Amino acid sequence: MDFPVQDLENTVGQKPNEHCAVVGFYGTDSAFDWIYTSLRTLQHRGQESSGIAIFDGSKINVVKVMGLVNEGFKNLVENGSIYSKLNGNIGVGHNRYSTAGSKDLSGAGPVTVSSMIGELALSHNGEIVNQGELREELKKKGVTFQTQLDTEVLLMVLSREIGEKGLKNGFKNAISLLKGSYSCALVINDKLYAFRDPLGIRPLIFGQVGNHYVVASESSVLDVLGGKIIRDVEPGEVIEFSETGFKVILNSPSLRTAHCMFEYVYFSRPDSVIDGVEVYNTRILMGRQLAKEAPVAADVVVPVPDSGRTQAMGYAMELGIEYSEGLFKNRYSERTFIMPSQSLRSNAVKLKLNPIKSVVAGKKVVLIDDSIVRGTTMRYIVSILRNAGASEIHVRIGSPMIVAPCYLGVDMKTRDQFIAINKSVSEINLEIGSNSLAYLSLDGLKESIGLGNRNLCLGCLTGEYPVKIQGEKYIKQTALESY
Ligand code: SF4
Repeated sequence: MDFPVQDLENTVGQKPNEHCAVVGFYGTDSAFDWIYTSLRTLQHRGQESSGIAIFDGSKINVVKVMGLVNEGFKNLVENGSIYSKLNGNIGVGHNRYSTAGSKDLSGAGPVTVSSMIGELALSHNGEIVNQGELREELKKKGVTFQTQLDTEVLLMVLSREIGEKGLKNGFKNAISLLKGSYSCALVINDKLYAFRDPLGIRPLIFGQVGNHYVVASESSVLDVLGGKIIRDVEPGEVIEFSETGFKVILNSPSLRTAHCMFEYVYFSRPDSVIDGVEVYNTRILMGRQLAKEAPVAADVVVPVPDSGRTQAMGYAMELGIEYSEGLFKNRYSERTFIMPSQSLRSNAVKLKLNPIKSVVAGKKVVLIDDSIVRGTTMRYIVSILRNAGASEIHVRIGSPMIVAPCYLGVDMKTRDQFIAINKSVSEINLEIGSNSLAYLSLDGLKESIGLGNRNLCLGCLTGEYPVKIQGEKYIKQTALESY
């Protein structure tokens, strides 16, 4: 089968991206080292840019860099100058995946501002769906904006509300105004705050390392730092960290939560525990459930590296079939750039994935991935396994079909990018060239995660969202007026 190499170049191995990772630190040590390590731990949540903002006792200083955390900060760390630029023991950090058109430092976090309540720095993971409206209202009140970021709108809403109504009522009002997903770490002068939208769409956890407090998008940060988890920041909760420890200053839960199912399927590290659910075990259960729903009498189970690995293990365990790495992924060819010739472009694609012939030749292969978005990657992988001699290729997917966009922090923005739009499973099977295709059922997904309709966001699978989005179906069932 022929493929347009130009298409493949940028799609093989590419998955939907989270917009961000969030870190906060309150302690007695230099905050930089802790935030830097935390951001490196969360590199998978954003690779385009990173930033660290630290309060030095009178003002907030911020350094933002492009690329991976260790590459961007390399020179500043090696020559030690970072410690004079970022001196202090309270701060926040941010990794960002930028969407098209904003791949520069103007879109990097954290966002900082000097306001009537003092110095603020905000790291935000999520997406404010009514940011346009809020921005216009604030502009009418004389607020000027430096960026197009929803994070800046969030910060301006917060600083105004807190300035006018005090800390607790300010947060309360801001939460009722802001619609969408937000898991945040915020410095206001000499204190750190962690807060999360009332539906808890994106994860946020906090813990202790010695006498320091760390807030992070995922629990694996606490493991890497040698600390202990205290607990998740609850949906709708605002926690303050200061020299007296931590205290909850506001709790505004809703009747339901809406944790993003994609955190369990793909985004989060398998060694993280998100809202009390271990990601690794969940993925094993997804694989096992998939095997129960769509078994194949195959010779070998092969994962799409790295995204399908854990679900593939679960699938193989359930059916007692051999699990083997039948595809080699070149970890040094993640980033592609415009190649001047057809042969260079073609070779760049082949560099990314190569089949291991002895594993697949003459075999009935079950090929497993966590999800299919566009289908280009899967079509390519099926073809290279076929060329490597696989006698049958049965594709199994560890989540249901993606049929609708995400408005809550993931870069799946238009329906036309999904292969599953207006196509049946058998039509997709034909298109990707496999012998058979099956997806995990919605019930199977919920059962594997251990959370149901009232605790998960399933918007991109069902087209029904937990937050009101113009033109989309909305599931209304919460306590807060605004939700
Ligand atoms: S729409 Fe999909 S990707 Fe977006 S938050 Fe909901 S479950 Fe997650």
